[in-house]
Amino acid sequence: MSSKSFSIEFFPPKTPEGAEKLRVARAQLAQLKPAYFSVTFGAGGSTQAGTRDTVLEICREGHAAAPHISCIGRSREDLRAILDEYKSHGIRRLVALRGDLPSGYGGATSGEFRYASELIAFIREHTGDWFHIEAAAYPEMHPQAKSPQDDLNNFVRKINAGANAAITQYFYNADAYFQFVEQARKAGVDVPIAAGIMPITNYSQLSRFSDMCGAEIPRWVRLKLASFGDDTASIKAFGLDVVSDLCERLIAGGAPGLHFYSLNQAAATTELWKRLRLSER
Ligand code: FAD
Repeated sequence: MSSKSFSIEFFPPKTPEGAEKLRVARAQLAQLKPAYFSVTFGAGGSTQAGTRDTVLEICREGHAAAPHISCIGRSREDLRAILDEYKSHGIRRLVALRGDLPSGYGGATSGEFRYASELIAFIREHTGDWFHIEAAAYPEMHPQAKSPQDDLNNFVRKINAGANAAITQYFYNADAYFQFVEQARKAGVDVPIAAGIMPITNYSQLSRFSDMCGAEIPRWVRLKLASFGDDTASIKAFGLDVVSDLCERLIAGGAPGLHFYSLNQAAATTELWKRLRLSER
């Protein structure tokens, strides 16, 4: 068994057709034997029930699954009920986040929790060591942070509050990841920090996501992708080269794991996995 953790993320489907497509994608991705599948919550208007149902379906199929749980705009009572429900189903891993409110709401001041570190402390207070908790990390800085140092300090707070590990936002600049990990180690963080990997298959979608979450697409990559226009085969082939080189560098440089943002599509993650021979690492 690999000492590194390779995991795959889904979002909860919103329609019966989406659910069926995800089942097909998941059957293919399950053959790769990832350490676990995680399921997002809240992003794109998904509901807690959607996250829970998808997670339970994955568990019934015999795979390890981790729901994402976010605290913005939530009450303690609400979160206590969600944690109890996951615990009653034998779920042992969570990805704990602040989450984002739709624009126009009161930012981080709305609800009983302001930051993910408060959620993580609450999970520990309410459920002790039951859950393995993953926190989010930002090698290229969270877009709302005051400075990289401030963001790093806030990351350290989440680990000190009880997170067991972290997964990064996606990035295409390996040096940003290595620098971040080095700084975190200097600040006393010793938990594994898995690299979040976004396969490249669609330029306009990637640009949109990257603008929202503050991930930089290097200029040369952007120019190349733009030059392919509607030629999706070239975009995918180039994206596969860029992202597999990135993953090779990350693994060679000591990344303890890779977490693939699959966007519920099996092909790109499967191709990367095979090219990188992750099942043998
Ligand atoms: P926090 O760690 O709370 O940080 C948010 C901001 O507040 C940062 O700028 C930080 O520097 C600052 N901050 C933190 N603590 C303090 C403090 N004490 N004082 C002042 N400032 C502080 N979103 C979803 O909606 N659903 C998902 O399922 C989801 N999954 C994700 C999975 C991963 C692996 C990642 C990396 C992100 C995910 N997101 C998801 C996005 C995430 O919710 C957003 O990036 C959100 O804006 C921040 O969440 P966080 O948990 O990192 O927040």
